[in-house]
Amino acid sequence: MTVARVNAKGARRWQAGHPWIYRTDVTERPVMDAGAVLVHDQRGKPLGWALWSPLSEISLRLLDRNPDAIIDQAWWDEHIASAIARRVPLEDHTNALRLVHGEADGCPSLICDRYDQWLVVQFMSAGLERFREEILGSLRSLVEPGGILARNDVSLRAKEGLPRETVILYGDVPREIEVHEYSVKFLAAPWSGQKTGAFLDQRENRHFVGTVARGRALDCFSYHGSFALHLARKATHVTALDASGPALMRAAENAARNSLTNISFVEANAFDYLREKEIEGITFDTIVLDPPAFAKTRNALGGAMRGYKDINLRAIRLLAPGGLLYTASCSFHLTKPLFLEMLQDAASDCCRFPRLGT
Ligand code: SAH
Repeated sequence: MTVARVNAKGARRWQAGHPWIYRTDVTERPVMDAGAVLVHDQRGKPLGWALWSPLSEISLRLLDRNPDAIIDQAWWDEHIASAIARRVPLEDHTNALRLVHGEADGCPSLICDRYDQWLVVQFMSAGLERFREEILGSLRSLVEPGGILARNDVSLRAKEGLPRETVILYGDVPREIEVHEYSVKFLAAPWSGQKTGAFLDQRENRHFVGTVARGRALDCFSYHGSFALHLARKATHVTALDASGPALMRAAENAARNSLTNISFVEANAFDYLREKEIEGITFDTIVLDPPAFAKTRNALGGAMRGYKDINLRAIRLLAPGGLLYTASCSFHLTKPLFLEMLQDAASDCCRFPRLGT
């Protein structure tokens, strides 16, 4: 049998719960194409099964700690079924949700999002691609979807030696799908939208901010208006701002879909807009900042921190007394303590003393 042997560091990492072993910690590389391999420590003790990606810096992704496991259709059925079962409670609130979230669900490098009766998947590693048919088999039997689209256009795939493509894997998937989260309806764009067609990760935050919003509200980095739609139910007026005209057109369609008439749409750079409003002396009672990742790499963190501080400082200045700022970062390298420190700095620079809730 073909095995991958790893050094003590790789084995320790795995035993401590990390799902990956890097190329530099693989001391004997399996002589085989991408797929599932048995992993041995330096003494030859089996550690379990992993997905093997020959070209990637992430050589091994943990599948199963049991060396006797068989990675077959039944294995994928069981793991995908338990991932889906964990999401059942969400279905009370939405029909747009992540069913399988990669390593967190024990299905490394696999993403599967559901939009109503359609699925969008991402296969993020060469090892995983080997199991495409099994995974499609599991999804078809467990979900019985109308279609499955692969949004395999992510740059990560290049690092795995895989083509970047957006292709139908089963049935049909519409260009636009109407979905709902809590009482808000919106269109997901599985073929062309960001990620797999919508940003699902902020769903609970959008709902929460919608329940506490008031007065004049500003949703910076609005994309398809997802926060704005929730804000508009409590706020008197919402400004939805984004640098992308097409994104705002979709936001306007979404507002109409919800019969909301108290949202206006502004195509602008958030940095400039916040500065201008300050000069004009305009204030808001509720502000949402949900920018794209300013720090895509660790090296970019310094510049990104200046960007985060800039928009947060300006937003704090635009808040009316007692106003609410909801602010987020999706930069992996920006830790929560650093983010909070940046916010505290921004607030004290403008002599404001916010109450923080995280
Ligand atoms: N809040 C959204 C997701 C925002 S994604 C949701 O919950 O669905 C980030 C958005 O920021 C994108 O739509 C992008 O067009 C926009 N954007 C990026 N840089 C910007 C800038 N400098 N000013 C305004 N918008 C910007």
